[in-house]
Amino acid sequence: MKFEQYRLSQEILRALDGLGYTSPTDVQEQVIPVALNRQDLVVRSQTGSGKTAAFGIPICQLLKWEENKPQALILTPTRELADQVKQDMQNIGRFKRIKAAAVYGKHPFAYQKEELKQKCHIVVGTPGRVLDHIERGTLVLDRIEYLVLDEADEMLNMGFIEQVEAIIHRLPEKRMTMLFSATLPENIEKLAHQYMKEPTRIEI
Ligand code: AMP
Repeated sequence: MKFEQYRLSQEILRALDGLGYTSPTDVQEQVIPVALNRQDLVVRSQTGSGKTAAFGIPICQLLKWEENKPQALILTPTRELADQVKQDMQNIGRFKRIKAAAVYGKHPFAYQKEELKQKCHIVVGTPGRVLDHIERGTLVLDRIEYLVLDEADEMLNMGFIEQVEAIIHRLPEKRMTMLFSATLPENIEKLAHQYMKEPTRIEI
């Protein structure tokens, strides 16, 4: 199985080649075609399975470079993961000149505000700080088409449910949502049921 079989542009294929990704991992093989059709997804998979690129590849493919406002929002439980995901997205979107910004707590708000003022296609962040930026008007969400809840079980375990829901309520209805989680307990199923449209389920 090769990445060339998907409807991916030369820019994305070239970036994957540069990263040394020769063939898709199991989770990528299942997620990429569904995500390229813009269908909602609930994915049970572990860290290390290649889950970041599973949502990163289709998002980078679908993003419109010309649009000046953020088109993808990725929520993560921790700062470290936010930085990692930002880097991965910029690596995959490198030849398309995709820009990502990371926003999280315990890091200067003013710096992040400046980063968000620049053109950026993707915003990655922890729920509390993302909500903060929304409330202060430094993060505009009216062009968001893609939402990813990464490590959703961790986010809920850390007590972020209220912030996650408050953020979702401010997003355009017409969007694609992907939820990734190592486990799918009741509260995750409820979240998926409430905010997603007939999601395709993938369990690795
Ligand atoms: P993740 O599960 O997203 O944390 O990814 C785990 C590791 O696998 C990361 O170091 C990625 O760079 C790497 N990776 C992701 N997709 C592929 C692929 N298709 N081929 C080789 N390595 C990959």
